[in-house]
Amino acid sequence: MIRIAIIGAGTGGTILANALSRGLSDELRTGRAEIVVFEGSESHVYQPGNIDIAFRGSDPRVYRRPPAKLLRRGVKLVEKPASLIDLNNRTVTYNGGEKMSYTYLVVATGSVAAPEIIPGLAEASLNFHRSQEDARKIWEELSTFKRGRIVVLTNLPHKCPPSPVEAVFLIDEMARKRGIRREVEIVYATPYTRAYPAHAIADVVEPEMEKRGITTYTLFNTDYVDPRAKKVYSLEGEELAYDLLIAIPPHRGAELVINSGIGGEEGWIPTDKHTLKIKNHDDAYAIGDATDIPISKSGVVAHLEAITAAESITSQIYGTGKVYLFNGRINCPLEMGGHRAVFVSGTYTREPERQRPSITKYLMKRVFNRLYWTMLSGKLEPIFNTYLGPPYDIR
Ligand SMILES: Cc1cc2nc3c(=O)[nH]c(=O)nc-3n(C[C@H](O)[C@H](O)[C@H](O)COP(=O)(O)OP(=O)(O)OC[C@H]3O[C@@H](n4cnc5c(N)ncnc54)[C@H](O)[C@@H]3O)c2cc1C
Repeated sequence: MIRIAIIGAGTGGTILANALSRGLSDELRTGRAEIVVFEGSESHVYQPGNIDIAFRGSDPRVYRRPPAKLLRRGVKLVEKPASLIDLNNRTVTYNGGEKMSYTYLVVATGSVAAPEIIPGLAEASLNFHRSQEDARKIWEELSTFKRGRIVVLTNLPHKCPPSPVEAVFLIDEMARKRGIRREVEIVYATPYTRAYPAHAIADVVEPEMEKRGITTYTLFNTDYVDPRAKKVYSLEGEELAYDLLIAIPPHRGAELVINSGIGGEEGWIPTDKHTLKIKNHDDAYAIGDATDIPISKSGVVAHLEAITAAESITSQIYGTGKVYLFNGRINCPLEMGGHRAVFVSGTYTREPERQRPSITKYLMKRVFNRLYWTMLSGKLEPIFNTYLGPPYDIR
């Protein structure tokens, strides 16, 4: 029997499991194949919802569901974290020592915000990248904030490149709505040379920040934070005082990846950016935030990589000889306040283009928030395919 083990039932793992269960329905029905998903968390969290929780006070429950409810019938869910991957012996260890062998493996364990990497940061700052609870604390703090300096501090690497800029614009919007904008100074600090890494998008974001009186510090790499003095110090020798510090902490890969000796100290899995195979392994794939692929760590990428990996594994099982190569498509909304947004879109070979912020794009983002749960099932793939084409080339 062929066994496909998937570790992680987040965005990538769930879409992959559901896509495979469609592609291999005959094999699953007749017992010639099985799909096993390991998941260590009780809830699948729609992480873009953290923006709404932190900056609009949304109810966190709207943005989470039990993983079992999101997987198609026929997919087996092991509600335990995997504790070790042995790529050479093709086994996954879980549940205090039980081992499961696999024919194909997909690691979809995501990334975690790790403020503890920078001295003082965890103590001094709030963040909306680690959990819904953390995001909620930002809302509580912002709701009662009256005057002073709010610093949004970006550290690399992190998931969702647009999210720090979105935070800055939404804080501005919230302060205006509360009538305290004159009393609040908003500062944005980023390690990049511009307010956004893609130049065409920076060209749109920077004038808007200036118009709204937001101060930007570029080339600001955090060295440490002194919570008592309420100051951030950069490797470049600058210091930045704050009254409220909202950080995008540096991220790292899953502990499982680090403990299995696969992704170095930071836990990013060495992955071929086209085939999505873990380097030097023909039967093991990595998708989504977990990889070391130089592409934005985003749900869209996890989604499109999942679709590509599902095609590849199905092709390997049926021996079609076709190889599916991910084309690096990204398509992330960036909200700019005032019910306007842009979309950061591109591929490995096409840079994001300059565009005007629009209400239509903002509405598309809001609609997508609602469609997310249906999207995980795979029911929307025919629509995406019709309008956007497949996210891979076939060789
Ligand atoms: C504030 C915010 C806003 C965002 N906005 C957007 C957006 O607008 N658009 C966009 O495309 N992306 C956005 N993202 C990014 C997006 O949410 C992630 O990039 C995406 O979820 C990555 O998918 P993934 O499958 O790689 O990992 P995840 O969805 O994080 O899933 C990883 C899963 O692996 C599980 N896991 C980890 N270790 C183990 C283990 N040992 N055993 C079993 N299971 C394990 C975890 O519990 C988790 O369920 C945003 C993220 C944040 C934080």
